[in-house]
This record gives sequence, C-alpha cells and structure tokens, in this order.
Amino acid sequence: MGRVLVMLTAAAAVVACSVATVMVRRRVRRRRKWRKVVRLLKDLEESFETPLGRLRQMVDAIAVEMQAGLVSEGGSKLKMLLTFVDDLPNGSERGTYYALHLGGSYFRIIRVHLGGQRSSLEVQDIERHSIPTSLLNSTSEVLFDFLASSLQRFIEKEGHESISSQDVKRELAFTFSFPVKQTSLSSGVLIKWTKGFAISEMAGEDIAECLQGAVDRRGLDIHVAALVNDTVGALSYGHYHDPDTIAAVVFGTGSNACYLERTDAIIKCQNPRTTSGSMVVNMEWGNFWSSRLPRTSYDIELDAESLNSNDMGFEKMIGGMYLGDIVRRVILRMSQESDIFGPISSILSTPFVLRTNSVSAMHEDDTPELHEVATILKHLGVPKVPLKVRKLVVKICDVVTRRAARLAAAGISGILKKLGRDGSVGEGRRRSSDKQMMRRTVVAVEGGLYSNYRMFREYLDEALSDILGEDVARQVVIKAMEDGSSIGSALLLASSHSVRTISNI
Ligand code: ADP
Ligand code: MG
Repeated sequence: MGRVLVMLTAAAAVVACSVATVMVRRRVRRRRKWRKVVRLLKDLEESFETPLGRLRQMVDAIAVEMQAGLVSEGGSKLKMLLTFVDDLPNGSERGTYYALHLGGSYFRIIRVHLGGQRSSLEVQDIERHSIPTSLLNSTSEVLFDFLASSLQRFIEKEGHESISSQDVKRELAFTFSFPVKQTSLSSGVLIKWTKGFAISEMAGEDIAECLQGAVDRRGLDIHVAALVNDTVGALSYGHYHDPDTIAAVVFGTGSNACYLERTDAIIKCQNPRTTSGSMVVNMEWGNFWSSRLPRTSYDIELDAESLNSNDMGFEKMIGGMYLGDIVRRVILRMSQESDIFGPISSILSTPFVLRTNSVSAMHEDDTPELHEVATILKHLGVPKVPLKVRKLVVKICDVVTRRAARLAAAGISGILKKLGRDGSVGEGRRRSSDKQMMRRTVVAVEGGLYSNYRMFREYLDEALSDILGEDVARQVVIKAMEDGSSIGSALLLASSHSVRTISNI
C-alpha cells in the first residue's frame, strides 16, 4: 500500500512537472510572440511619425507647390484650378435657389430661401442619400439620369408653394467634388475621377452640360447655372456668415482645399478680369506630393492596388475613404506575422472592408472591456481576442488617424503660409507687421471625417497649435459647417448670377 502511494505520488509529481514545463514553455512562447508584436507596433509608430520639424518642411513644400501651380499649367502636382469665383456671398442675397451635390459617398439636394439678411437664410428642404455603389463604374448617361430622376422626385414633392409659381426656371448649382477645369462659373470639364469613381465616357465632358441635358430630357424646369467645387461651396457658406473666412477644407470621403488668392498672383491666368482683384483657387490638394510625406509600405500597397495609382497621394493618407483601409492593412500584416489575432481572416483580406467610421468607433470606444472593438473585430472575422490585443487595435487606429490629422494641419498651415498669415514673417519684420500677422483668419471645414471623428479633430487642432505657435493659432479659427458645401453653392449662385467667361487662360 505504502509502495503504491509512493509510486502514485511520484507519478503525480512527474505530471505536475511536465504540466508546469509545458505552461512555462507556452508562457515563454507567448511572451516572445508578444515581444514581436511590440516590435511591430514600434516599427509602425516610427514609420507613421510626423515630428514637428517634418511637418514644418511639409508646410514649406505646400506653399512652394502652391506657388508653382499658380505660375504655370502643370507646374506642380497641385493643379491650383481657377474657379471664376471672385465675389463671395455676404448675406445680402435674395431668392430661392437649389443645389445638387455629388460627393464621394453621398449626394444631397437642397432648396434654400434667402431674404436679404444672414439671419433670414432658410434651408427649406434637404435630402441626403448614399450614392449607390453600382453608379461608381457605370456610364455618364446612367449617372446623370440618376441625378436628374432624384431631382425630379425632390421637385415633385415641393407642392404648390414652390418657386415655379413665379413662372421662372429653378436656378440650380451643381456641387461637384471631383477635379474640373472650369471655363466659367457655369461650365467645366472633368479632369479625372477620384475616390473610387471610374465612370466611362466622362473625361473631357462638360459636367454642367451633362446634368442640364439629363434634366432637359426629363422636362424639368431647372437651369444648371453654376458648377461649384465642394470646397468652394464650403468657402462661400463660411464667408456668408463670417467675412474673415478665406479658405475652406473638406475632410470627407476625400480631401481638398480652396482659398481666396489675389488675381495678380495667379500668373498662369494673364487676364482674370475680376472686379474684386481676387479669385478663389481650387487647390486639388489631394494630389499634393512631397518626399517629406511619411510614406509607409502600407501606403505604397494601398496606392498600387487602387484604381488611380500614382495619383492623389496626399488624399490617400488623409481621406476618410482610405484611413479604414490603412488600419485594415496594418492589422492584416500583424496577423500574418504573429498569431495574436488567431487564424488569418479572409474577411480581413478584403480591401475596404473596414470603414473609417468603424475606426473612429474603435478609437473612441470608452468601455473598460472595449466592447465596440470586439464587435468590429468579430465582423472582420477575428473573434475572441484578449483585451491587450483589443488595446493594440485601438493604438493602431490612433497611429493612423494621428498621422492623417497632423498632415491635414500641415496642409492648412501651408495655405496660411502662402497667404502670409502663419506668423512666419521674418523675425526682423515681426514688430512692424504684428497687426498684419495676427489678423483673424477663419478656415471653413466640412466633411464627415472631421465632423464625426473627435480624435481626428483634436489631433488636427493640437498640430495646428504646434506648427503655428499658440499666439498665431489663437487667431486661426477652424469653423465646422455641416452641409456647408451644398448650402454654400446655392448662396454662391445667388450672389453671382451673371456668368462670366474668361477665355485667355
Ligand atoms: P462626401 O464625401 O460624400 O461629401 P461626407 O463629407 O459626409 O460625404 O464624408 C463621408 C465620409 O466621412 C465617409 O466616407 C467616411 O470616410 C467619413 N466618416 C463618416 N462618418 C464617420 C465617422 N463616424 N468616423 C470617421 N469617419 C467618418
Ligand atoms: Mg463632401
């Protein structure tokens, strides 16, 4: 009996020892794996880094490129497109106007009534719909017929109190969020599609004519009287409410900016013939490029697999369409190089399956157990990961979004620098031009990324203060304006009813 007990005890000791050994080995392996993940995270942080010195170099590069784009056609990757907008709305406009806004993810239709005073601006109706994905690679005819039929429905529900009782055509501004070479306020040709659009038979077509044709085919009493870039609409809206507004930036599906430039600085346009002495320039800053941009292997892969590779490099680092996909690529790479996410998910391998709104939901998840992160990862085919892995995912969102917001801030500072409003006038001249330097400057900002993603906004504000310094940053007001692009386009049409054509560009 005693012998049996001894043997049993010895066997139990052996088993306990082996279990302990296995556990220790597993722990060592887990630690080693985690160390690898920590190394991957460190590499990620380093490659996405945007130190102040680098941001300042970018600011300089943007100002230089802006200048080059103003001097000659094709002088820079920044197209610096003329908009033929010289007078911005000021609040005195009157009448009823419409806008149809084709964005990257949504289209909107609005009707506004203006009573001659800022306070009497009335948005009488506004509709916002997702753009059906089937349209993205359809034909010009399908796209414009779709827009015209949406307009028809919008008008049909107006009833009898509408403008048509005055027996005049409805005046509509077409807000178009893609690069257009304008030939007048009401006409322009598409340069190229961006943001995943690839509609055939369109490059070189007059956009306003296409919409007017589709509207006429349906017998609608609508005159497409203005073709307005969405940033220009946002600037108009900003200026309507606050005349210190001199630039506008869109952070939505894509990203772009415009600003008010002196006509004598637009050297490529020899006779802009504006009465105000200035003109709004559509930068098309999504295409900005500089060797100072922190380009990573994720950006290179994303670009190579995109419909418009070697194009829109800046937009691909800051646009809402792309941030989710950068985060997805990082998670995918980490899951390939370590098994912390479990077996590699085929869902995670699908481009654009992770949207930027999910990135913000994960980033801003304030539940102690990170429930939102767990739910989104589950939808990506990554169920049941421990809390520390969920925290890692939050960190990845942070790294990608922080870079985007800081680059966006450098972009805004670049515009301010070009306008001499960044406070960087030579130290010697500082005292005499204090007033000029510290002039209040309002930048209108619009877009779903900015309005819905708090961390993006906070990082952008922080970087602006870092770049400009507290004193100057205090004079720079970033004003968010929901639906500003659409409403502002209608306001612009109201303020600039006559169509001016400039032929000698
Ligand atoms: P559009 O680009 O069609 O003009 P928006 O300005 O509304 O439309 O921008 C839509 C984009 O904003 C989405 O594609 C997405 O990238 C981004 N976005 C929307 N909601 C959020 C959110 N909650 N968090 C982060 N990004 C968002
Ligand atoms: Mg938009």
